[in-house]
Amino acid sequence: MRVDVVTVFPEYLAPLGLSLLGRAQRLGLLAVHVHDLRGWAPDRHRTVDDTPAGGGAGMVMLPEPWGRALDAVLVGEGPDGAVGERPPAAGPTAPLLLVPSPSGTPLTQAWAHELAAEPRLVLACGRYEGIDERVLDDAASRYRVEPFSLGDYVLNGGEVAALALVEAVGRLLPGVVGNPASLEEESHEQGLLEHPVYTRPARWRGLDVPAVLSSGHHAEVARWRREQGLRRTARRRPDLLRALLDADPTALSADD
Ligand code: SAM
Repeated sequence: MRVDVVTVFPEYLAPLGLSLLGRAQRLGLLAVHVHDLRGWAPDRHRTVDDTPAGGGAGMVMLPEPWGRALDAVLVGEGPDGAVGERPPAAGPTAPLLLVPSPSGTPLTQAWAHELAAEPRLVLACGRYEGIDERVLDDAASRYRVEPFSLGDYVLNGGEVAALALVEAVGRLLPGVVGNPASLEEESHEQGLLEHPVYTRPARWRGLDVPAVLSSGHHAEVARWRREQGLRRTARRRPDLLRALLDADPTALSADD
């Protein structure tokens, strides 16, 4: 997979070179290209923002640098305006532009799986009060545009959201996580939270690892884990349980 990130803070994306995703890049499983939006600013001050139309606090990102940047990154338009291969219209095979936004569709594990099947993702990181809306309207005529949200709170910029999305998607790419079985058991894969996990020592600060985990009885361990995952989901995320049962009222019937 190839990932392009456009930002005014390219150094913010440096952690993608660490740990599993860094290894994935060295192995050629993932290629991350980070672009400085200011490289497409039309003036010598490299301006990328201006005051909001209609007044109000803060600054809004200018459409011109973004339009030029996205055309260059998505379809290879050069700085002279020469256009590479421009897709005719936004269809299912048009390039995918992901735009971090607190008003976007919440990012989920199921969506991360869909994104992991894409050959290429382009992320446009906003700052300040966000990007001039016309950039998204214009892009939607040529690309698939998907605003996405990390959650119901506001960040200073899209970079943290881009890091989160690339990590959530990147770890699903074949070969990135050493043991693919560990992906299947995780929270949100089956619509539930994962059970608690333990390691050595068997007793720590007066607290014991649950005895069933040392029993060697695989069926009992599996049962315990399933039950603990359900209890944790009911306690911390009852909305997930409700959604699971709404989708399939028999989803949990094998358990009790
Ligand atoms: N004025 C915008 C609003 O109320 O919707 C918020 C702008 S925010 C300060 C600046 C940028 O941070 C956004 O353009 C977006 O790229 C990013 N951002 C903020 N919160 C986010 C979230 N929950 N999920 C994804 N991106 C977010």
